[in-house]
Amino acid sequence: MKKYSFSMLTLIAVIIIFAGVIVMSLSGDTQPRAHIKHLALYGLLLTAVFIVIFKYRLEKENQKHVSIVSLAESIGRIGSFEWSRGDGMLFLSDVAAEHMGLEKAGKTGLDAFLKKVDPEERDSVSAWLLQNCIEKGEKIRIYFETDGKEKLIRFTAVPSFEGSAVDRVRGIIEDVTENIKAKREREMIFRQSRDGIAILDVEGTIKDMNVAFENLTGRNRSELSDRNLTGLIHSEDREKAEDMLQVLLTTGYYDRFELRLIKKGGQEINVQMNLILLPNGSIMLTVRDVSAITEYQQKLARSEKYLRQLFEVSPIPLSLNSRTGRPVALNKKFLETFGYNLEDLAHKGVWWTLAFPNEQYRVITRERWKKYARSVLNGEQATPVQATVTCKDGSKREIVFLYSVFDDMGVVAFSDITERVEAEDRLQEYIAIVDDNVLVVRMDINLVIQSVSRAFCRISEYEEGELLGRTAFELFHDDSLSEVRSGLLENIYAGKVWKGEIKRVTKYGDIFWTQSMLHPVFKNGIKTGFVSISADITDKKRIEIISVTDKLTGIFNRMKLDEVLLTEFARFRRFGQPYSLIVFDIDFFKRVNDTYGHLAGDEVLKALAKLIKSSIREADVFGRWGGEEFLVICCGTELDGAFNLASKLRRKVELFEFPEVDKLTCSFGVAQIDEAGTDNMVKRADDALYRAKQSGRNRVEK
Ligand code: GH3
Ligand code: MG
Ligand code: MG
Repeated sequence: MKKYSFSMLTLIAVIIIFAGVIVMSLSGDTQPRAHIKHLALYGLLLTAVFIVIFKYRLEKENQKHVSIVSLAESIGRIGSFEWSRGDGMLFLSDVAAEHMGLEKAGKTGLDAFLKKVDPEERDSVSAWLLQNCIEKGEKIRIYFETDGKEKLIRFTAVPSFEGSAVDRVRGIIEDVTENIKAKREREMIFRQSRDGIAILDVEGTIKDMNVAFENLTGRNRSELSDRNLTGLIHSEDREKAEDMLQVLLTTGYYDRFELRLIKKGGQEINVQMNLILLPNGSIMLTVRDVSAITEYQQKLARSEKYLRQLFEVSPIPLSLNSRTGRPVALNKKFLETFGYNLEDLAHKGVWWTLAFPNEQYRVITRERWKKYARSVLNGEQATPVQATVTCKDGSKREIVFLYSVFDDMGVVAFSDITERVEAEDRLQEYIAIVDDNVLVVRMDINLVIQSVSRAFCRISEYEEGELLGRTAFELFHDDSLSEVRSGLLENIYAGKVWKGEIKRVTKYGDIFWTQSMLHPVFKNGIKTGFVSISADITDKKRIEIISVTDKLTGIFNRMKLDEVLLTEFARFRRFGQPYSLIVFDIDFFKRVNDTYGHLAGDEVLKALAKLIKSSIREADVFGRWGGEEFLVICCGTELDGAFNLASKLRRKVELFEFPEVDKLTCSFGVAQIDEAGTDNMVKRADDALYRAKQSGRNRVEK
């Protein structure tokens, strides 16, 4: 509006001047002429002022315009130039100079410009510019590389005419190096892509394709060009493909989809297609052969099905969990074992509250589980967690939790060891019972005690610690030591089990008897020691001893003597081993009783038994035959030996000082066994004794 008013004012001023000049030339009167002169002068002055102002405004406007152009130029990196015929010089903008590699913008000669063009192209560029554009007045667009082939320039020139001749040429200079490079890359991708690529028109007609597309479809370029894509697609999939194309054309977008292509030979292949609407309105189709993938997927699906089946039929309860620990699948065995189904455990953490209702136990177990699971995730060795799980029906099961990670899923296996734990508990119970009731002693190869049962400790009155390191024989009574030791050693070193009765001594010197079995113990085929298992037979032994012992004297009684006579006779019959019998009777014992009393008589009997016992060998069996008559069975001894022993005994009695009664004597009868038998021998000995009595007493007869 302002610009318009300035021009208008200028025009008015000019009109006034002209009007003034005309009036001046028509009128001869000096007065009005002088007025007009003044008027014209003012008009002129006014015009000059307006022109100056107008020029100034125009300049400013221009400058603004130029700065906008140069801004656009610098942003778009588009350089501009102008050639004018007047001076034949080329004016280049900053960006244009920069593109051409010229040091400074502004006016430059055509030669200087052409010098910056690649020498190989210089002539043709010069010809295009001078002949086609300037001479013939054609609009040109040429590409050339700069000197040194650093850049690729797109040079567009538009001539403007003064009459029929080209007066000026204006145009733009663009650096298209990157564009071309990108385009070449695109082309390379297109040509070399392993995916088949085809360019289609909106009808689906193939306009261009790469080698991969040719290979994929089994057809060459000429067979494919201008042919509709539909013809390559499996008849059942054609409709689908057309739908896709329609969707693409209406919405401008479509995702990839899969269908079957028919190769030239009729072979069917599974492909994945992708349609892209290009800016120029054509369609880029990419095709990828996914037959292999499809096959792989089928395989995968099969193995997944297989795994699923395994999961289902697994005899171990299994839970498939998401990374957050929420179960996504539970197998049949899980349901059977715990009773919980997926719905019961749907919410996070609910498993813990159900399976571990006791809060304290839950917290502890959960911490242990977390620690274990973390170790598994870190690929470390970790001991699985064992815990008591409360089932849906309230029953409890002992479970070992095993965790493994598969993809982003966790698999928990619940190894049910309830039965095992119960069996172990039972076993422990049995062991405790055995330990409490059976006399067990474990020894090393040298019979040094390694451990003993509680029952053994109780009976022997020792603490276990007091027995460790001692040999088994140290607990034997002297009687058994001499009797058992050699036989036992012989047996066990021959690798046999030894069985027998052992007379033992407790810590406090009491006697106890055991019926023992000593087994060798082997480890990996090597004998490492022995274990003795014994029964306490002390009571039985006591009864046994009582039954064969004379109560008053403590020596064998008649019953035992009868038994020994029988067994010895049997041995005699079998092995021919001789033995003899000594019978003796106290002389005038009635007098002792009569004089000192019956009790004194008893004391004499006891003293005599003790005296005789200490005077005979271990192998001789000594007992009370009845009243004040005694027997000595001399095993392995013939008549003369027995006679000598009897004489020795007679002398000992004669010399012995008995309590109260002082002196006593005994009469002895001796006989040796023969085929006539035991009774006969006893009778012969008795007869001999009788003879000894008759012959004056304190004698030995045979
Ligand atoms: P002899 O030299 O002829 O054998 O004379 P004797 O007095 O020993 O006669 P006899 O053998 O007939 O008498 C045995 C006596 O021994 C009879 C009985 O009172 C006594 N006697 C038997 N058994 C016991 C006993 O257990 N204790 C005591 N104090 N006396 C007994
Ligand atoms: Mg008598
Ligand atoms: Mg007598």
